[in-house]
Amino acid sequence: MTVSTILWALLATVCLAQLSTFCTTIYLHRAVTHRGLKLHPVIAFLMHLELFLATGVVPREWAAVHRKHHQFSDQEGDPHSPYIEGLWKVLFFNYVLYKKETGNPETIKKYTPNWTNDLIDHIPFQGKVGPIVGATLLALAYVSFTGLGFWMAAVVGVASWYLHAGIYIFLNSMINSVCHKIGYRNFDNKATNLQWVAWITAGEGLHNNHHEFPTSARMKAFDWEFDPAWPIIRLLEKLGLAQYQESSLAKAA
Ligand SMILES: [Zn+2]
Ligand SMILES: [Zn+2]
Repeated sequence: MTVSTILWALLATVCLAQLSTFCTTIYLHRAVTHRGLKLHPVIAFLMHLELFLATGVVPREWAAVHRKHHQFSDQEGDPHSPYIEGLWKVLFFNYVLYKKETGNPETIKKYTPNWTNDLIDHIPFQGKVGPIVGATLLALAYVSFTGLGFWMAAVVGVASWYLHAGIYIFLNSMINSVCHKIGYRNFDNKATNLQWVAWITAGEGLHNNHHEFPTSARMKAFDWEFDPAWPIIRLLEKLGLAQYQESSLAKAA
């Protein structure tokens, strides 16, 4: 295996982690969890399919844990507050805290009442089946396109899936830890904004703005802030594939 093959594999892995991050913020966070925008069913399905294969995240569980986070934000009851658990614990073990909360049926029932399953939600054990199918498809893609021997390509493909998952989890953990402690605040809540984190998390790093305007389809509040997912949402809206309320958008006080 040559150095250039390794570099291409790393680039593909990082791009896939970014794709998952964009699908998470646009579909899972802004549309499904906070209903800040409405996506065309085909776009919603494709984004859910991407998350199913690349992350195994179960939308209902994610929405329930995240809504609880907003309700108790940095107080007793918040599933992953750095003020309660400590910054390093949330940064490196956010996934463990998240899984612990998803195992609480009361949380799921209370925060996602009247949940309607889509096609993918009907797949049994979706959180396990998705990653197995996704890693297999990625391995087959590496077998087809890298020119490596079958087994070597398959191993690199599976390794790429897991590395992507690690990057994806870490980016999510940064929001819940660093973006509640370090950075600037436009509004009077404990969350913080970090523009450089927003660059690598599809806008999620503007977390202080988000806690102030949770149902806003965009996370920037000032012209000088940049929310990478916002131009994509605008484009989808122009194409008739997304709708949002202008009046609910985050804006400077
Ligand atoms: Zn938060
Ligand atoms: Zn939120």
